[in-house]
Amino acid sequence: MTKNWYPIIDYEKCTGCLACANFCPHGVFEIDDGKPIVAHPENCVEFCRGCQKGACENEAIHYPGDSKKD
Ligand code: SF4
Ligand code: SF4
Repeated sequence: MTKNWYPIIDYEKCTGCLACANFCPHGVFEIDDGKPIVAHPENCVEFCRGCQKGACENEAIHYPGDSKKD
């Protein structure tokens, strides 16, 4: 089964604050050259929006299937 829930980072909005990487307790993110990358999407918890709602202040995170306005 293909994983279908994981954060997608909009690098046009991302400031590289790394709040998302520090927030997520599941090791989804790694840091590459000062920016978070979604290195382990398989670790993301289905329908968790923790990093989007609880960490990112720049609306730079969305999830597969979210509408564009999110
Ligand atoms: S949605 Fe939840 S589990 Fe997935 S990367 Fe964000 S904080 Fe981690
Ligand atoms: S919390 Fe948002 S702005 Fe900060 S590094 Fe993560 S995606 Fe980028």
